[in-house]
Amino acid sequence: MSELAIEREIDRSKMSISDEVAIQITGMNKWYGQFHVLRDINLTVNRGERIVIAGPSGSGKSTMIRCLNALEEHQEGQIIVDGTELTSDLKNIDKIRSEVGMCFQHFNLFPHLTILENCTLAPIWVRKTPKKEAEELAMHFLEKVKIPDQAHKYPGMLSGGQQQRVAIARSLCMKPRIMLFDEPTSALDPEMIKEVLDTMIELAEEGMTMLCVTHEMGFARQVANRVIFMADGQIVEQNEPEEFFNNPKSERTQQFLSQIL
Ligand code: ADP
Ligand code: MG
Repeated sequence: MSELAIEREIDRSKMSISDEVAIQITGMNKWYGQFHVLRDINLTVNRGERIVIAGPSGSGKSTMIRCLNALEEHQEGQIIVDGTELTSDLKNIDKIRSEVGMCFQHFNLFPHLTILENCTLAPIWVRKTPKKEAEELAMHFLEKVKIPDQAHKYPGMLSGGQQQRVAIARSLCMKPRIMLFDEPTSALDPEMIKEVLDTMIELAEEGMTMLCVTHEMGFARQVANRVIFMADGQIVEQNEPEEFFNNPKSERTQQFLSQIL
């Protein structure tokens, strides 16, 4: 756990939360075989929200966000993303995946493709974007994450922080309306954590709806509008950051915070 101070001013002018619902989870349950991993999850995320999901290892954070774009299947309850219900219907899954970008702890770039090719692959093959247009789009987002000069290198030639920023740029090339992050900085050294958090802060400043599993409590305090605490497959508590950190309600949350802060 770390609490990296976020030094720069955060521009909150576009960080508005709308009344429009982006994600609605109702009575969601999931099992891995006999193991009941997610228990009765209810969560509504409005457009523009920046949610940090915290909780001990094994509490179901990854499973929950992976259910949101059908990387894992839920067995009970309902998940609606941008008005489309996530069912086993592939058409719905494709539609939801095209709206939801995801970044993982391990960047999952294709090692045998250049940075530019990593970024243009899905737009060309999934979105049928013409190659030249896809490359322009990729360069736009590589500039945004401040590594346009790396476009023709291979992932293995980049630092971890650079690779994670490529992974974010690659997601953005699909023009998602929602971004999911699963511990995007957990595999990085401190100086690289900062550059990835900076990229995430910029996305938040542009009004992106974000769900972030992260141990970066500085990010939670300063960027999130809501912190969700999970334990044993349940949402135990949720609150705005200040209340969450200063006045945790449940014993489980207090115990967790006392270990990390
Ligand atoms: P977190 O991200 O909070 O650490 P996970 O969602 O990864 O938690 O895991 C929640 C629980 O589900 C853990 O006990 C983990 O061992 C178990 N689990 C995760 N993935 C699988 C899987 N594919 N099959 C069986 N059990 C799993
Ligand atoms: Mg996890």
